[in-house]
Amino acid sequence: MIYKELIIIGGGPIGIACGLEAKKKDIDYLIIEKGTIVNSLFNYPMNMQFFSSSEKLEIDNIPFISKEAKPKRNEALEYYRRIVTSNDLCINLFEKVVSTEKKENGSFVVTTEKEIYSCKYVIVSTGFYDMPNTMGIKGENLPKVAHYYKDPHFYSMQKLAVIGASNSAVDAALECYRKGADVTMIVRGPEIGRRVKYWVKPDIENRIAEGSIRAFFNTTLKEVKEDSLVLDTPEGEKTIKNDFVLALTGYKPNFGFLEKIGVKLSDDGKFYPQYNEDTMETNQSNLYLAGVICGGMDTHLWFIENSRVHAKIILESIAKKEKNK
Ligand SMILES: Cc1cc2nc3c(=O)[nH]c(=O)nc-3n(C[C@H](O)[C@H](O)[C@H](O)COP(=O)(O)OP(=O)(O)OC[C@H]3O[C@@H](n4cnc5c(N)ncnc54)[C@H](O)[C@@H]3O)c2cc1C
Repeated sequence: MIYKELIIIGGGPIGIACGLEAKKKDIDYLIIEKGTIVNSLFNYPMNMQFFSSSEKLEIDNIPFISKEAKPKRNEALEYYRRIVTSNDLCINLFEKVVSTEKKENGSFVVTTEKEIYSCKYVIVSTGFYDMPNTMGIKGENLPKVAHYYKDPHFYSMQKLAVIGASNSAVDAALECYRKGADVTMIVRGPEIGRRVKYWVKPDIENRIAEGSIRAFFNTTLKEVKEDSLVLDTPEGEKTIKNDFVLALTGYKPNFGFLEKIGVKLSDDGKFYPQYNEDTMETNQSNLYLAGVICGGMDTHLWFIENSRVHAKIILESIAKKEKNK
């Protein structure tokens, strides 16, 4: 068993920020990441542009220079990768944490697919991007249905249905339309999402108004078939021809993982994890949460911009405990 003072689960922007802070405070830490560095960002759409300007994505005041005010995915990968390598951060990649258990003496045993660790403090910064919200309908598991969107070229000359009306759905619909896909949006509510980027919203609304992109509002997808979709529309059931479905219906944190470690979740259907806002410590002492995982089902509550401060808050709390011991 390997001993570390602090184990940080998840090497996203916020896990990395925690690692930097731990290094500054001379705490013996290890970041354990199940994929590559900032794995969620790596899996974002190829041409994705952040809604935040680059200085709002900076961690530890390390300058983030991008060509345009709002950086692209590739620039963010470069930025966070350089932070890890230039600061020689302690990070194990492609090592998934499978369980975390608290022992009677207060220490934690963190088990990964490769190793068993013992530590005094744990920070869980595992984000939400690994678990898509599923629709629970017949045909959802057909290979033509995807919950992640990568590249518009794939959908060229195909009948593509985009489910959802958030930023991800709108970006995918516009990009695919411009690369020659025949795009239909299927939207549960009456309009395009109110949180869609203000500079993109007129574009999608105008494409829908002129009929370049078809949209069904107040409509849910009822069934996915090999070459068609069954829709529940305000005018009744409709069947439309279809080749591919992008179900961009959002993502959620791994609540099972949190519950197994003993973190209390709210029972109002939002699954907000319980933690002290002044320290980010959960109901389990010495177990902290950082980053977007803190929002439960409200995945829009936290993002890099407003959760990067978690690193300083947590490491202050840990340093204080160490000083007072
Ligand atoms: C399309 C899109 C655009 C966005 N644009 C912006 C923006 O412009 N500005 C902004 O501030 N935010 C934006 N966000 C949100 C932002 O990307 C997230 O807030 C950010 O990734 C959160 O960082 P995090 O470190 O909390 O989580 P993540 O980046 O998701 O990192 C969590 C990490 O934990 C790892 N992990 C998970 N489970 C395990 C395990 N069991 N063992 C080991 N590792 C594990 C994952 O692989 C992942 O690398 C956007 C999100 C999306 C989806």
